[in-house]
Amino acid sequence: MQEKGTISIHTENIFPIIKKFLYSDNEIFLRELVSNAVDATQKIKRLASLGQYKGELGDLRVEVAFDKEKKTITISDNGIGMTADEIKKYINQIAFSGATEFMEKFKEAKDANEIIGRFGLGFYSAFMVADKVEIQTLSYQEGAEPAYWVCDGSTEFEIGEGELEERGTEITLHINSESEEFLDKYKLQSILDKYCKFLPVPIKFGTNEQEEEDGVDEEGKPKYKTVEVDNIINETNPIWTKQPNELKDEDYLSFYKELYPYSEDPLFWIHLNVDYPFNLTGVLYFPKVKNDFDFQRNKIKLFSRQVFITDEVKDIVPEFLMLLHGVIDSPDIPLNVSRSFLQADSNVKKINSYITKKVADKLAEIFKADRKGYEEKWADIGLFVKYGFVSEEKFYDKAKDFVLLTNTNNENFTLNEYKEKVEPLQTDKDGQLIYLYTNDATKQHSFIESANNKGYDVLLMNSPIDNHFIGHLEQKLEKTSLKRVDADVADKLIKKDDAPEHVLTEEQSTKVKEIFNKAISKPAYRVELESLSPEELPVTVTQDEFMRRMKDMAAMGGGM
Ligand code: ADP
Ligand code: MG
Repeated sequence: MQEKGTISIHTENIFPIIKKFLYSDNEIFLRELVSNAVDATQKIKRLASLGQYKGELGDLRVEVAFDKEKKTITISDNGIGMTADEIKKYINQIAFSGATEFMEKFKEAKDANEIIGRFGLGFYSAFMVADKVEIQTLSYQEGAEPAYWVCDGSTEFEIGEGELEERGTEITLHINSESEEFLDKYKLQSILDKYCKFLPVPIKFGTNEQEEEDGVDEEGKPKYKTVEVDNIINETNPIWTKQPNELKDEDYLSFYKELYPYSEDPLFWIHLNVDYPFNLTGVLYFPKVKNDFDFQRNKIKLFSRQVFITDEVKDIVPEFLMLLHGVIDSPDIPLNVSRSFLQADSNVKKINSYITKKVADKLAEIFKADRKGYEEKWADIGLFVKYGFVSEEKFYDKAKDFVLLTNTNNENFTLNEYKEKVEPLQTDKDGQLIYLYTNDATKQHSFIESANNKGYDVLLMNSPIDNHFIGHLEQKLEKTSLKRVDADVADKLIKKDDAPEHVLTEEQSTKVKEIFNKAISKPAYRVELESLSPEELPVTVTQDEFMRRMKDMAAMGGGM
């Protein structure tokens, strides 16, 4: 018995519109149909585990196939299937509040993702590439009859008896003439790789040939035959779905290689795993970037229940961590919504600060457990840490204990350590601390040396973020100013009177002064004893500015 009906949306026909506006992103039809198939298998598994399905579960799987001649793509599964009533309910009544809203909104939508997700048009994305779609399905329910549905992209559909003998659903797309590019093994394989690579149920796509041992020949050597094996395109248990304690370093490293085949090993990683107040799993890697500012961004892949969504994670991951690599999987991130909506979402805000906290905690942990190792990584992580330090108050609160200052002797200090180191010498009369820095140790070599000779330390600030970093340090550190060690600054540095190099006792100093005074025997001159370190002039003879002007005795002015 065939039944005809009209799909309940209150407009003439939205399919031509879907096709026209979604053309750019139409490959996602496959993601939508495969994830529906996966959902169906997960549902039957769940029903079985709850005891509500007592039949044979079988090996749950999804299969994608295509026929170039017939111009069809078929997606089949052995999930829960649908009864005719369910088809009417779930397929015919399109899950959006009204076509009017759709008609208004689609004008603004920039890509298919946005419309498909926002309006629950998952299944209907098939009409972006097909001019006819058929469903053959058999529900898991006892006594269910197989059902059949067909729709040619108009709002008319037919529903009737189906042919399936086994539980599950088979969806056949009759590919339209503009979309024939999809009737290609490599094209389909690449779309599956992109969106379906980590789905939780095996997805078969064609077969591969494989050599298999087949007995031995007369001489006892093994014989081989070629066999066809299923080509399973996905990895059903990617590492982010596992517990950290089940995993070894090699697992994290090989997953990294799988995601970014040509990259150097990452420095370290953070396994994210939280289920309250939002659900999120993932692994974030710190890549090797050095001070290279050309590194690639957008390397984090966003998944929702193992379905790839996008590698545009701005707003979800804090800006300063956009250079990280890896995956984030969260069903609690609203998909396909506008940027402003995403930024305002409370889960997204929480996720953002959760990631910030996890990264800060991990860095603090490495710093504490292995200071040397941390310093070795500093060239790579310094940029992230400083970027976070200047841009995220919450990160700053933790990073102030593990951000490092490096001086021109390649020694590293925390902020506290550095303060302690330079405080005795580099504090002026008003108690103001002076930190010197250079952004080019080669060009400023002589100034650095001169500063060093006067006992001053010079920091190396030559990374692209350092200008901001210096500005931020000045804001955050109390009574501290940072000065670039140029000619002017280096000249004006004064060696402190209480420098520890004084080696003469008071009595000896007086004697030395007397000797000099006698030799000069002019009251206008003053004899001053400086430190006796080898780089310094041990004694200076000066005359007061006033006297000097009066007498204009240039020959004896200044130090000698
Ligand atoms: P969503 O997946 O967001 O619910 P879709 O438009 O993708 O929206 O699918 C609509 C509904 O159709 C699904 O919720 C499900 O009930 C049903 N459905 C689609 N594909 C299948 C399938 N392969 N097996 C069983 N039910 C399906
Ligand atoms: Mg769906």
